[in-house]
Amino acid sequence: MLTDVKPEVSSQAKSAQVHFDEPPPLDLRYEVLHKPAPEMWEAMMKVTPGMANAGQDRFVNELEAMAAEMTGKEAALFLPTTTNGTVLAHMKSDLRGKQVIMESRCHIYWVEALHVSDLAGAAPRLIKGENSGMMPLDEIEAVLTETAYGYQIPTGMIDLENTHNVYGGTVITQKYTEQVSELAHRYGSEVFLDGARVVNAAVAQDVPVLALTEPVDHVVISLNKGLGAPLGALLCSRADLIADAKLMAKRTGMIAIHKAGIFAAAGIIALTKMIEGLADDHARAHRLASALSDLDGLYVDMDSIQTNMFRVSTEPIGKTALELGERLAVHGLGIHVLEPQAFKMSLCYAIDDDMVDQAIDIFKKVMPEMQ
Ligand SMILES: *Cc1c(COP(=O)(O)O)cnc(C)c1O
Repeated sequence: MLTDVKPEVSSQAKSAQVHFDEPPPLDLRYEVLHKPAPEMWEAMMKVTPGMANAGQDRFVNELEAMAAEMTGKEAALFLPTTTNGTVLAHMKSDLRGKQVIMESRCHIYWVEALHVSDLAGAAPRLIKGENSGMMPLDEIEAVLTETAYGYQIPTGMIDLENTHNVYGGTVITQKYTEQVSELAHRYGSEVFLDGARVVNAAVAQDVPVLALTEPVDHVVISLNKGLGAPLGALLCSRADLIADAKLMAKRTGMIAIHKAGIFAAAGIIALTKMIEGLADDHARAHRLASALSDLDGLYVDMDSIQTNMFRVSTEPIGKTALELGERLAVHGLGIHVLEPQAFKMSLCYAIDDDMVDQAIDIFKKVMPEMQ
């Protein structure tokens, strides 16, 4: 029977997403599902790649220098993915037989297949943040000092995530970052910042990126989330760690990206031209979220709308996010299912005011049909 045109559902129940054969015209699922900004294509077309393996690509070198300066670190390494940077920083921080403190819903624990255990030889130690990436300081200190059977497990790293993805792009403050770093260093631990969207966090709080990165030991930044590059991330840290990370990246085939300069040229646009648009993305996210919170059947915690993405709960209407996502898909709107009754929407340079209006209209049409 061909009368039912409902899109198919992924068979993986636990991460079920609405299935799209073609990306929907209004794609609010994830920033990485958009074309790079036109200015990036132009910059990329002009590049004749240098020999990046031999340190001779001027675009890669310039991008790394720019990132090191922006984050207040001695050196930076251009890598294909943010996860690469996180894996390398943990592998090269002497964490074997130690614990790594991280927030209970963090990307590193849930999405990155436990490289902290498998590749760095460390035990993740989860602490719950209160609907944000901020773990209570007293609980961090309790874990750092805890003993049992007369033994203590050394803590090698505390991982922060700014902005925090699953809580809906919530920010960590400069003060909190400083407090965690002071605490960590007092007890002989280091701090790693998963700063995939730390630039959004800085813009949202009207502080320089440096304010959120200088207190920590290592930070990784994504170039292709809200900053729109086609590929890449930057690990920024001490010069010795970056040298070790570079060797490991080489050994595991993470670097030696042929024609890296083409991607680095887009990365330079990401850091020099794309940051100024982030405040608009945040304003659009706020406008969309507040329109959705006015609709019967959806719940949005408006205090959590801080950057370019947010969570919406379908609990009031008693339907799953997947059911709603399937209805929205019929109208060409894509959302990201996070949990059975929660979904996420992400704004970025590719979503303008008109598209936000269209998305609001689709929700207004679909919500009454769900009752
Ligand atoms: C996307 C993301 C990552 C991983 O980035 P990749 O480039 O996909 O490896 C890490 N942390 C957070 C918070 C993210 O949103």
